[in-house]
Amino acid sequence: FERENSNFIRNIVIDDLESGKHKSIITRFPPEPNGYLHIGHAKSICLNFGLANEFKGRVNLRFDDTNPVKEDVEYVESIKEDVKWLGFDWDELHFASDYFEEMHKRAVLLINKGLAYVDDLTADQIREYRGTLTEPGKESPYRNRPVEENLDLFNRMTAGEFKDGEKVLRAKIDMASPNINLRDPVIYRISHNAHHNTGDRWCVYPMYAYAHPLEDAIEHITHSICTLEFEDQRPFYDWVVRECEMEAVPRQIEFARLNLTNTVMSKRKLKQLVDDGVADGWDDPRIPTISGLRRRGYTPEAIRNFCREIGISKADSTVDSRMLDYFLREDLQPKAPLAMAVLNPLKVVITNYPEGESELIEIENNAKNEEMGKRLVSFSRELYVERDDFMEVPVKKYFRLFPGNEVRLKGGYFIKCNDVIKDADGNVTEIHCTYDPDTKSGSGFVGRKVKATIHWVDANNSYPAEFRLFEPLILDDDPANEGKHFLDQINPCSLEIKQGFVEKTAVEGAQKNDKFQFIRNGFYCVDSKYSSDDKLVFNRIVPLKSSFKL
Ligand code: ATP
Ligand code: MG
Ligand code: MG
Repeated sequence: FERENSNFIRNIVIDDLESGKHKSIITRFPPEPNGYLHIGHAKSICLNFGLANEFKGRVNLRFDDTNPVKEDVEYVESIKEDVKWLGFDWDELHFASDYFEEMHKRAVLLINKGLAYVDDLTADQIREYRGTLTEPGKESPYRNRPVEENLDLFNRMTAGEFKDGEKVLRAKIDMASPNINLRDPVIYRISHNAHHNTGDRWCVYPMYAYAHPLEDAIEHITHSICTLEFEDQRPFYDWVVRECEMEAVPRQIEFARLNLTNTVMSKRKLKQLVDDGVADGWDDPRIPTISGLRRRGYTPEAIRNFCREIGISKADSTVDSRMLDYFLREDLQPKAPLAMAVLNPLKVVITNYPEGESELIEIENNAKNEEMGKRLVSFSRELYVERDDFMEVPVKKYFRLFPGNEVRLKGGYFIKCNDVIKDADGNVTEIHCTYDPDTKSGSGFVGRKVKATIHWVDANNSYPAEFRLFEPLILDDDPANEGKHFLDQINPCSLEIKQGFVEKTAVEGAQKNDKFQFIRNGFYCVDSKYSSDDKLVFNRIVPLKSSFKL
């Protein structure tokens, strides 16, 4: 295997396989089911599943469900769906809560070894006693309870004799350690709450920092990959594996989490956007959840390619969200069929085209991919074009429709604007044009040239449709937003809804999430929430072009 600078964890895996430290690897993706997955999780998923796949190892999906209060089966289901949609499959599915019995036994082992004690201090006192970076911590007066007393108290905690917060179990390590995480961390707390998996079986729950290394060791994980903020936890992680006498010794490796511009990326914040109704559910196309990206029209391929490109490093950084769009365009360009849609319609009447007649015009389905063939698009006396493609009084260098000017209709004829029809208030309601039958595309006509080609839709053979155009939900690029709460940075113009028309042939039978390249307008997909047989609704995935360069 070739080592790559862009992924230091992959290099560690190659070292471990070549040195014989491991015959094969086991990784895991361990989400807490307290929200929907986001694109940051996708980075971790691509890494963990990608390594297992590449090196023919195994990978577990494990729900880190040690907190009874915030977790929910709805989240469990969505997480499974998202991992599969991204194109991955797990070898084993586990719930950390299935290990509660084992974790409890190991805690009793720690007590017996004199390495854990029951503390009566309150949470506030524990924090106070913990000290600071510059000041050592203070020992709890309960720290030196005899083993027998600790065993008895822990049993009674487990039996439900005490209220939430009355007692905790702490590891007995070193209150003067320069690493605050080693100053007797709490490993069990009391919580009289039903758990989504274990119900009322338990009223003591292990803390994450204690539970996680055990979960990894129980599953024989070889490389336990997590984000940088757990770096200081690694000594405690190793302590737990060692002192709990676990057979397998997993290695924790930290990497930098993914941050993106113009968005928030934490389940807590995303949940707040959803709960406050700022976002239209967890699958709002403007938020970076996997389900939001899916509904918006992003593809698993684009997300995977993006994750590969950003690489794995130890340095925190914020990635330009336009980079994700770049990979999306790369993926959709050859795949998404072309179609014509008019988002802001202006009626055009071709006065010299016979009333009641129509014809079919052949247009290619993808200029970048001939294999996608051609389709027949209906053309008749009445059309819609974009209002932007007409100006009653043209500005300089405007080559589209204006009185007296001629343009080409995409795939069709030259038309010339002759009359402008207005309502009583002076608003343009339609324009009257004539077409030249000799100028049909592909006919070899060379008599004269026009400077613009515009798209159009046959007014007598089209579907009305709604188009939803998105901008970032969070305006974090504005320097004035430095230090502002994310809820005070909401973009008031993040959704623009337009009512227009789309040609029939291209979208006939389109299913939810089907993707199109609407000529000159962008990549769009059928919205999975609002589109129905009665009303087509399209999401703009991305505009066609961007100034972003990779
Ligand atoms: P959040 O703050 O969004 O809730 P989390 O780390 O608490 O994130 P978990 O459910 O614990 O969420 O995450 C599961 C895995 O995904 C962890 O291994 C975590 O390190 C990883 N992960 C979460 N967010 C990111 C991110 N932004 N970039 C890379 N990996 C991430
Ligand atoms: Mg977490
Ligand atoms: Mg979290």
